This record gives sequence, C-alpha cells and structure tokens, in this order.
Amino acid sequence: MGAYMSIDRPIYVTQPYLPPLDEFIPYLQQIWDNKILTNAGPFHQQLEQALCEYLGVEHLALFTNGTIALVTALQALRITGEVITTPYSFVATAHSLLWNGIKPVFVDIDPNTLNLNPAKIEAAITPNTTAIMPVHVYGHPCDIDAIQKIADRYNLKVIYDAAHAFGVECHCGSVLNHGDLSVLSFHATKVFNTFEGGAIVCPDAKTKQRIDYLKNFGIADEVTVIAPGINGKMSEINAAFGLLQLKHMAVISERRKEIDATYRKLLSGVKGIRCLGDGGEAVANHSYFPVLVGADYPLSRDALYQRLKEHGIHGRRYFYPLITDFSMYRDLPSAQKNNLPVATAAADQVLCLPIYPALQEHEQIKVIDLISR
Ligand SMILES: *Cc1c(COP(=O)(O)O)cnc(C)c1O
Repeated sequence: MGAYMSIDRPIYVTQPYLPPLDEFIPYLQQIWDNKILTNAGPFHQQLEQALCEYLGVEHLALFTNGTIALVTALQALRITGEVITTPYSFVATAHSLLWNGIKPVFVDIDPNTLNLNPAKIEAAITPNTTAIMPVHVYGHPCDIDAIQKIADRYNLKVIYDAAHAFGVECHCGSVLNHGDLSVLSFHATKVFNTFEGGAIVCPDAKTKQRIDYLKNFGIADEVTVIAPGINGKMSEINAAFGLLQLKHMAVISERRKEIDATYRKLLSGVKGIRCLGDGGEAVANHSYFPVLVGADYPLSRDALYQRLKEHGIHGRRYFYPLITDFSMYRDLPSAQKNNLPVATAAADQVLCLPIYPALQEHEQIKVIDLISR
C-alpha cells in the first residue's frame, strides 16, 4: 500500500481559485438578460469601482490582459527612446518595450529583494532615457522612494510592472499609488484572477480618459478617433468573474498567509535554503514563495527541482532564464552577464514553491519533507 500512497494528484506552483460555480450563474443570467457582452458594460464599470475601493487607488482602467496594459501604459505616457528595466522578471515586461520600439536597458537587481537596484540606475541613464520600468517581484515592493528620487532628478517617468502586487501595501498605503502608472495582471496564475485580465492604475481622471481611449482603438466618439489605439477591453464575462472573485479575497489571502508562515517556520532550519524575506511591506499578498538554493545545500537548485518533480511537485524556476538570456535581448550591451551578476546568481538559485488556497496541509508537508530530507 505504502508505495501507492505517493500516487497523488500533481501539485503545481499555483492553482487558480474558483468560487463555487452556482455563485457565478446569476452573473451569467444578467449578461444573458441585458445582452451587453463588452465595451465598458455594467460589470466592467462595477469592477473598476470595486477594485479602486479594494485596492485603495483613485483611478483604474481594466484591460484584457496585463501585457496589453503594459504596452498601452507606455503609449499613454508617450514613452520613446530607452527605458531602464530589470532582467529578473517575466518576459512580458521587456516585450512591452520592444512592441513600442523602445530600447530596454537592463540594470542589475538588489540581492535581498531581487527588485531593480536603485543604486545601479544612474549609471545606466543616457540622454535617450525617458523612463524606468521596475517590477515589484513576488509582490515585494521596490525601493519606491529611491526610484522616485532618481526619476525626479532626471525627469523620467516611472511605470511599475505591478503584475505580482495586487493588494500590496507599503509604509504609505497601496504600493500601486507610486510612480506615474502601475500595471496589474489578473491572469489565471495570479493572486486575483479574471481568467485573463489586467489593469492600469493611474493618478488622475485625465490620464484615465486617455487610457480608456487607447484601449478602445482611440475612439473618442462616433466620428472621432484621437490616436492609434488598440483593442484592450475586458469583456463582461471576465469582469463579472472578477466581481465574484473579489468577494472571496479575504479567505484567499488568509490561507496564503498561513501557507507562507508554515514554510518559513519549517524551512528555517534547513541548511542552504534561504526563504526570500518579505519585502518589508505593511500588507503582503503572499503571491509566491521563492527560496534560494545555496551552495551549502546538498543538491543544486536544478537537482532539487527535479527531485520534487519526480514526486509530483512542480515548483517553478521564476525567474530562470533571465529575460536577457533570450535571443531578442542577449546582444544588447546591458544584457551581458558581467553587467548583471546578482540577477545571474539569483536565476541559478531560485525555486518557487507551491502556494495557493487549495494546497492541503499534507501536501505542503510533503514539499517541506522532500526539501529537508
Ligand atoms: C503575469 C505577468 C505579466 C503579464 O501579464 P498577463 O496578464 O499574463 O499578460 C507581466 N509581468 C509580470 C511580472 C507578470 O508576472
């Protein structure tokens, strides 16, 4: 019997939270009744409002996904030339720059937070630099004050890729209120999901208006198109699901917090395993649980990854490879390894462990046992 006990369902790094299906039916019924499927319909408007309240932000524009939101954020601020960003992120961060004909300039990360290192930014600024695009990696806030100081000194815009930072608060409220714009992702793998989706958080109504035009082909009214916009609109079905999901966020957050605490407690004594600190945020979202597998651990990171996989546990090496390892970036001068020693080391050591509301206690213990063995 014992041997067969290990044939459990696979455990992935994350699993989307789905509220009970019967709770979604009334929303569908409403869509079927009013026949409004998209174009800033009632659920779209309600979700924008509800998210502003939940997140503690003034203005928010929903999008079909986070990547189109990033591309549009750069358009909204008319960013050109060169943008300083991090190699240690999901590839969409840098792709959004290429889609705008912008040259990414990669700067190394901080060894503690793995976010863009403000101390390295100034040396990368040239006369062509127009903006900084940092990422709140794992939902741990960037050094927003230091970044803003540099932006002010050199007259640069700051667009945060906040895809991981849903609900995160720093010393002065929502982390999403910093910089010129912040971009969220509501992809199925994220803490809050609308199947696919995203949003731009912006500080004023005028910017929100421009973003709303841009996500709807640049259409201002029946006979006026003010810019070469895109179709970035979120549909009613996605917005409705978001409204329902939002009702469950308290439970989702609580369970994630418990799982995070259990990992921290039970992995603290394991030699060679370093749990990445929380980012000092006032409110965390526990969206990921990254550990760094050090040289003093008996296995390499890849060997540990493999061992877990053989036991049905699918950790993820976020972020490996670095963005700068991909062919469309690797020839840039800023993409060279000697420019990015901290990011290069982190990419070789990091492993994200399973964390999601439905993760069972015995499943988490199995993960911990396999690492501590
Ligand atoms: C998920 C993610 C994105 C892209 O969001 P989509 O909604 O999947 O398009 C961008 N940046 C980071 C850091 C992400 O994790």
